Amino acid sequence: MIEERHPEIRTAIRALCAGYPNEYFRRVDAERGYPEAFVDALMRAGWLAALIPEEYGGAGLGLSEASVILEEVNRCGGNAGAVHGQMYNMGTLLRHGSVEQKRAYLTAIAEGRLRIQSMAVTEPTAGTDTTKIRTTAVRRGDRYVVNGQKVFISRVLHSDLMILLARTTPVEQVARRSAGLSIFIVDLREAIGHGLTVRPIANLVNHETNALFFDDLEIPAANLIGEEGEGFRYILDGLNAERTLIAAECIGDGYWFVERAVRYANERVVFDRPIGKNQGVQFPIAESFIEIEAANLMRYRACDRFDAGEACGAEANMAKHLAAKASWEAANVCLQTYGGFGFASEYDVERKFRETRLYQVAPISTNMIYAYVAEHVLGLPRSF
Ligand SMILES: Cc1cc2nc3c(=O)[nH]c(=O)nc-3n(C[C@H](O)[C@H](O)[C@H](O)COP(=O)(O)OP(=O)(O)OC[C@H]3O[C@@H](n4cnc5c(N)ncnc54)[C@H](O)[C@@H]3O)c2cc1C
Repeated sequence: MIEERHPEIRTAIRALCAGYPNEYFRRVDAERGYPEAFVDALMRAGWLAALIPEEYGGAGLGLSEASVILEEVNRCGGNAGAVHGQMYNMGTLLRHGSVEQKRAYLTAIAEGRLRIQSMAVTEPTAGTDTTKIRTTAVRRGDRYVVNGQKVFISRVLHSDLMILLARTTPVEQVARRSAGLSIFIVDLREAIGHGLTVRPIANLVNHETNALFFDDLEIPAANLIGEEGEGFRYILDGLNAERTLIAAECIGDGYWFVERAVRYANERVVFDRPIGKNQGVQFPIAESFIEIEAANLMRYRACDRFDAGEACGAEANMAKHLAAKASWEAANVCLQTYGGFGFASEYDVERKFRETRLYQVAPISTNMIYAYVAEHVLGLPRSF
């Protein structure tokens, strides 16, 4: 490996994950369940509070350390997609929340008593064009009344809190489309069944994701985060950390696929020799490894800039792109190496293959990364 940072964190996460082997995740996947025991264990050990400052009871670690935690979960064969929101959704609160809000929520989140697993941005009609969202939050006295619809909102049924993006000023009344959007903390324990309806969406991965329907949901005005109308900017502020952490998960997946492919190629004997002796089998594995290593360097570059407080939009986007592409290619190579056995669930390859595919689409699709780099890094004209 080119770089294996934070060995002490890796050892600790591997030890924790040893209690939740591949069989565990395979069973959860087959049952379309949620890895409740694993999530509890990670939270109780404080790993998901890595980015919460020590004054609020968190570990106060950098993005580099946090990224290694999620990387190791995936590298052990698990799926950090069930938990990653808990690590980064609180960032909005940390950066833009009031002192009272931070006191009320961050310590409980750090102690693992409160889950903030969900962030609701995507809508069925707006898609990637976030400024066109139609969900509204209208101020009435000391409350906001929310109406609208969201789609593909993850982990809502396994969370206590959700960050919600909604329009507070009609688009015709703002100078820029990105103005007039605000973010709120929604207490799901109070909201579900009282103005918020959750409908799970069956999907390719065992990823708990849902359509949400808001019908006069009332939330206290005190749950507005930061200033009204600034929500779009606040959401953007959190994207670099999110993208870098997702990159790390993909890198964990990528190493898992390569390690599995190497092991199988060495063991499987066909035509009286290990299949790995054939260049047609070993070269694609080598190529995958090279690509994961390169993505890994970009991941650490993004982490270092983020942790130094430097701009890292380009690095975070490029890391996410390189890592998601490398892990998906490694998944394909691993499946091909296993041949027919790759399709059998008991080898976990087909599960991980489905899981890693998500990251070409969510939380941001590949074309949006190209558009970012084209416009903001290369100075090409804005395309949409
Ligand atoms: C399992 C899962 C979990 C998710 N979890 C969450 C969540 O917790 N919270 C949340 O808010 N969202 C979540 N999402 C939504 C996810 O972020 C979006 O699906 C993603 O951002 C793409 O949006 P879309 O599906 O509306 O695609 P669209 O915007 O409809 O785009 C469809 C395709 O067209 C391409 N495209 C669109 N416009 C352009 C353009 N101008 N130029 C080039 N290409 C373009 C896109 O890149 C994409 O490939 C989740 C999605 C999935 C599948």
